[in-house]
Amino acid sequence: MPPQTDIRRLQALMDRVASCRLCQEAGFLTEARPITAAARAARVIIVGQAPGPVTHREGIHFAGPAGRTLATWFEQAGFPPGVEHKWPHLSSAWITSLTRCFPGPSVSGNGDRAPSPKEMALCRPYLVEEIDAVDPGLLVLVGAMAIRAFLGPMKLDDAVGRRFESNGRAVIPFPHSSGVSRWANAPENRARIALAVALLGEERERLGIPDAPNASS
Ligand code: SF4
Repeated sequence: MPPQTDIRRLQALMDRVASCRLCQEAGFLTEARPITAAARAARVIIVGQAPGPVTHREGIHFAGPAGRTLATWFEQAGFPPGVEHKWPHLSSAWITSLTRCFPGPSVSGNGDRAPSPKEMALCRPYLVEEIDAVDPGLLVLVGAMAIRAFLGPMKLDDAVGRRFESNGRAVIPFPHSSGVSRWANAPENRARIALAVALLGEERERLGIPDAPNASS
């Protein structure tokens, strides 16, 4: 099943996103610096919450520790590692997030600030068009906010380890991969994450993405 990505449309979108300053103009951010990437075909879209400080600095989605965990899940599901980014951001996947600019640290100083509903609403049209342009067969949602944005209010217990559908596309939810998610670190949730990885492997096969020779499962 070849990817149906509209590369020209996706690149035009990335060019528009790169110059977006909506959240800065609205006073939500001191500096809007959207994360973009060169357009390419993909059969999977990974949707995270928002860029973290390492992503902000390096200009690559999931450039920090969250990317390592995410890559591990994908490699365990048999996906081939990509070659275009620092971390094995997968050549068959397009990575994005609910908002594209680093929201800054949280008020408490403990971790990053979660983007507000208004910021997500400002950024949402880009995400909608991005999904349309990439036209993936699978959405991978990383974290409770991404899950809620596509599947509605739902506990991680009820989301992770299950396959959903959204607008005719398969959806596989995962917890936030930053390493600070208490849910993801709880031993009792390992089985749910393993189930999600297994479902990801099934979707990889369904989409005709070849198993990587060094896949660990
Ligand atoms: S988060 Fe999205 S809407 Fe807000 S400034 Fe960045 S690119 Fe624009």
